[in-house]
Amino acid sequence: MNYCIGVDLGGTNIAVGLVDRDSKSIVQTKSCKTNAPRACESVSADIAELCHAVCRAQKIELSDVDWIGVGTPGIVKGETVISAHNLGWRDVPFGKILSSLTSRPVHIANDANAAAFAEAVWGVGRNYSSLIAITLGTGVGGGVVINGKIWDGFNGFAAEIGHMVIFEGGRECGCGNRGCLEAYCSATALVRETKRMMNLYPDSAMWRFCGGDINRVNGKTAFLGKAADDYAARVVLDSFIDHLSVGISNLINVFQPSVICIGGGLSREGDNLLVPLCDRVSRISFGLKQGRTKVVCAQFKNDAGIIGASLLGLQQKERANMRKSEIVVSNFNFEGEVEKIEPHGNGHINRTNLVTARVNGGERRYVLQRINKTVFRDPEALMKNYAKVTAFLHRSIVENGGDPNRETLNLVKTIDDKDYYIDDEGEYWRMVDYVVDSVSYDKVESPEQFYDSAVAFGNFQYLLRDYPAEELIETIPNFHNTPDRYEQFLRAVAEDKCSRLSEVKDEVEFVKAHREFAETLERAHKEGRLPLRVTHNDTKLNNILFDKDSGKPICIIDLDTIMPGYSVNDFGDSIRFGATTALEDETDLSKVNFDIEFYELYLKGFIEGANGGLTKSEIELLPIGALMMTFECGMRFLTDYLNGDVYFKIHREKHNLDRARNQFKLLSDMEKRLDEMKALVEKYV
Ligand SMILES: [Zn+2]
Repeated sequence: MNYCIGVDLGGTNIAVGLVDRDSKSIVQTKSCKTNAPRACESVSADIAELCHAVCRAQKIELSDVDWIGVGTPGIVKGETVISAHNLGWRDVPFGKILSSLTSRPVHIANDANAAAFAEAVWGVGRNYSSLIAITLGTGVGGGVVINGKIWDGFNGFAAEIGHMVIFEGGRECGCGNRGCLEAYCSATALVRETKRMMNLYPDSAMWRFCGGDINRVNGKTAFLGKAADDYAARVVLDSFIDHLSVGISNLINVFQPSVICIGGGLSREGDNLLVPLCDRVSRISFGLKQGRTKVVCAQFKNDAGIIGASLLGLQQKERANMRKSEIVVSNFNFEGEVEKIEPHGNGHINRTNLVTARVNGGERRYVLQRINKTVFRDPEALMKNYAKVTAFLHRSIVENGGDPNRETLNLVKTIDDKDYYIDDEGEYWRMVDYVVDSVSYDKVESPEQFYDSAVAFGNFQYLLRDYPAEELIETIPNFHNTPDRYEQFLRAVAEDKCSRLSEVKDEVEFVKAHREFAETLERAHKEGRLPLRVTHNDTKLNNILFDKDSGKPICIIDLDTIMPGYSVNDFGDSIRFGATTALEDETDLSKVNFDIEFYELYLKGFIEGANGGLTKSEIELLPIGALMMTFECGMRFLTDYLNGDVYFKIHREKHNLDRARNQFKLLSDMEKRLDEMKALVEKYV
């Protein structure tokens, strides 16, 4: 779990939330009154107590929390609140005080900036590089986030969007100036104008929507009136939207942000507000038809303060990561001068950066990865396998007349001529050439793509057909040793740690009925019918790079799990997840069926890709590989269920049991069609 705490410090209330960055949600909240004005030490002590309270509720320690972020009213610079009128603070070292009380790193920001940060990182701006948030409330607040960083000016005063003058010499604003956006477009201003027009138009339909009582007018009243085609309401809203569109257009013309999002109670009006607003904005702001700032409503309502504050640590963490990467990069012997280093792809397991270097006028790119030691316990063994196999692939591709710079990954050596670099914290890093003009896909988008991936993994077997696989290190021992997995299953049954055995009797019998089957591949290996090969062990689609133009597979990546194994295992695993009509956790078993057409497609591609590199008896065992991987996987889910869900991450009760049943249904289906599966092998040999 990756926990952090977000604190929404307001003039009235203090709300503290424990945030889980994996599930992107607030998992616990506690709050108390602010009782402002009050000394920072005293407020900080209350915040610290609430931080402990949310951790207790989640049964964790405060020390398990990576950092605490606080959104506070007022002007903030670094760790200091320069001034916050409604708290009564001036030049208070708030960050230091709270950090010393909690022993956690503390990050603080202005509350409107924090709310904008929530939208930029997890909300409507998550897929874009820049966002400006505008909150229409009692006043008009805002925040500017550019490339993942809050822009608060050199002195902390920036993004006071509400006090942008849109009408010189206009209405008086709370700040003492005239004509500020806030004086026209806050919810308060809208209510004031609504009341003024109602007094001028005693026949206005708006009177009906507040029961004839002007004190009950709120931000919705004018919208309700406009929907009823009321003249006075239309005048109020037209003027409101005119002014707001001027403010937004000014922001667009200065910043051209990817997204402007509107928050606060009025954003609940949705299209009633957005449609006329966007229409007006598009007419008076700069931009191209195909590339215009999107104006949308905020995603987070009341949670924006806590979530945004909780994410403040990300800014600093990212920066620390980048500094680290710069040092690491300087230890590799690559060509060119570093121009930039940026996070790359969605490397869920290894942290990945893209390094761009200048080389006499042109540029070269490299991929820098830190190996996740929690997942890969023996990074040294992993890198030995990696280096040997990629070097072999390089030679093999050259012999076949291919392009070794595109068809395999190529390691960049360190300045000490090593295959990887170990930093001062004992972390392992590797650098490979970036494969230019390539793309990858997360999901199979067409049957052709599934076929192409089969060709790619078949070809992987072909290129490595002469590799002495027994020389590779088993980084995860007995990974696909099904009889060994069967023994683990029997142990789980015997121990029945969680007293779940009685409810899975049928499933246990199903597995036990396959005791002899479990031996099939190991026996074939012992009898010399199934050679040891280099296996990839993670044959999903996004581990293949495709050529950007031709759409054809060029290179197999993610070689962290290469080990000695059987080709039929790589094949079988692909069939297990690719030739089924349902997802792995589908609970309606009537939807889980073996898709023999996808099987045939993959079989054809795999055999073609292998191009004679596999033996006859090995190819004959491909269907058994499909059955075996499905069996083994289902058995592992069941074993984990009996052991109390300790290995596979679950998202609901009995998730592992559901997955096991799903795999067993798929296996039964395959077993019924085994003769057809075998016949198809004959067809393509
Ligand atoms: Zn103002």
